[in-house]
Amino acid sequence: MNAKPIEMPEPAKIEEFRNHIDGAWAASRTGKTFDDVNPADTRDIVGRFPASSREDALAAVAAAAAAFEGWKKTPISKRAAILTRAAEDLEANVDRNARELTREEGKSLALAKDEFLRSAQTLRFYAVEGQSFSGETYPQDDPEMTVFSLREPLGVVTAITPWNFPVSIPARKIAPALITGNTVIFKPSSDAPLSGYRLAEALITAGIPKGVLNFITGRAGEVGPAITESAAVRAVTFTGSTGAGEHIHRSVPLTTRTQMELGGKNPLIVMEDADLDKAVDLAVKGGLSLTGQACTGTSRILVMAAVREAFTAKLVARVKSLKIGSGLVAGMDIGPLATAGQLKTVLEYVEIGRKEARHLCGGERVKGEGFDHGYYVTPAIFTDVTQAMRIAREEIFGPVLAIIEVSSYADAIAKANDTEYGLAAAIATRNPRYMHDFANDIQAGSVKINRTTTGNLVNAPFGGLKRSSTSTFRESGRVGLEFFTQTKTIYRAC
Ligand code: NAP
Repeated sequence: MNAKPIEMPEPAKIEEFRNHIDGAWAASRTGKTFDDVNPADTRDIVGRFPASSREDALAAVAAAAAAFEGWKKTPISKRAAILTRAAEDLEANVDRNARELTREEGKSLALAKDEFLRSAQTLRFYAVEGQSFSGETYPQDDPEMTVFSLREPLGVVTAITPWNFPVSIPARKIAPALITGNTVIFKPSSDAPLSGYRLAEALITAGIPKGVLNFITGRAGEVGPAITESAAVRAVTFTGSTGAGEHIHRSVPLTTRTQMELGGKNPLIVMEDADLDKAVDLAVKGGLSLTGQACTGTSRILVMAAVREAFTAKLVARVKSLKIGSGLVAGMDIGPLATAGQLKTVLEYVEIGRKEARHLCGGERVKGEGFDHGYYVTPAIFTDVTQAMRIAREEIFGPVLAIIEVSSYADAIAKANDTEYGLAAAIATRNPRYMHDFANDIQAGSVKINRTTTGNLVNAPFGGLKRSSTSTFRESGRVGLEFFTQTKTIYRAC
């Protein structure tokens, strides 16, 4: 493993950030704070944030409810102009923002920059799409009557987001919510709140009126119930773990709409005719970029018996050559895990894998200068993995790849679908028959043919099947507007 010591930046003065509730930046009523820590070097405190209370959260709900009627009536062109100005802000500050994202979450600077630019693109996309998103008129027999439908906003929407894409996931929730006339309470992950803060700041600086976007930080246990279970909240859009999402989904009032984008256990099928070098590339990029911490990351590799040995040898060689180090250093392939909890979970699953399957490489904590204060683990590969094993069934959310042998296309599909999740899936093949059948047979919201399981476009729908999502409403793309509106049908005669 080419583990290279890295230079960390000088410790800087710790900057304090605040909530934004009812048009004002303010500390928590409790005065308590928590630290946003750099997982590459835990001595580096990226920022200090309010550890908000239930009362702070209830104030955010009340502010969003009070602001709703005014925002709903605000001209759509004005709402769109605010999103566009916020996009300009994110683009103008991309270098600072990307550096902060890398420091708080661990991904490379290049990926962090890409995420901010994609978030700006999302704001611009909804600024345009939102202006043509409307109801329909319906032909009927009565010449004295017009029948049409209206798409109207729901009211107060809560957006709760994870640490792994701390700005692009909030952007794809908040932009469609705002452009359709909803008011928003945004709670970012406590493990990476600064990038979400920058998004909220950009929108507020761009002219969001008082109470329309409320930004609140704090541990889920403290603020969560107030912003999800209040009857004033009409919808909750959540991305995170399946356990937390299903808990919120069950806890909210019946009248509250939910959109829960959850975990995955995403397969890559490698057929006997695949270009093996390209298949290895798909496995490494899909499974190990973001240190395996992408919801759509490849974690199971189903390989045809005929090419299993050759594929495995190439994969192990490639993984052993990856460079591990801070995302702030150019050229690193694998960064730290994002949190102490992630580190513990991944090391536990490596132990489970060692007992269940055949260990081929990796899974050790990286030690030495430049690594001792970070959450670094070498990427692990296991083979002889079978369907019953925990490493084949449970979401690990780290740099751990499980190789499962398959005997035919039908066997590969049966094993790929033998999971409670259905987020993303990929196939490596040159055979058009497999390509065609895979699109129909696989149970996944994102289907990739000769592409990584990771990655999705701003203008295309995104979401999971089975326990990867509780919602029929998709995020992203034009359909991403639907969750935030309800339809009224009008019969009008003069
Ligand atoms: P998480 O622990 O479920 O937390 C996600 C967010 O939910 C955080 O802001 C967290 O707040 C909050 N939260 C947790 N429990 C809550 C509750 N009871 N009430 C209100 N808020 C609550 O997930 P994570 O560790 O941040 O993210 C990793 C998971 O997200 C993985 O399972 C991954 O697959 C999934 N993910 C899914 C997608 C997708 O689109 N399907 C995309 C990215 C990630 P605190 O930080 O304060 O605890």
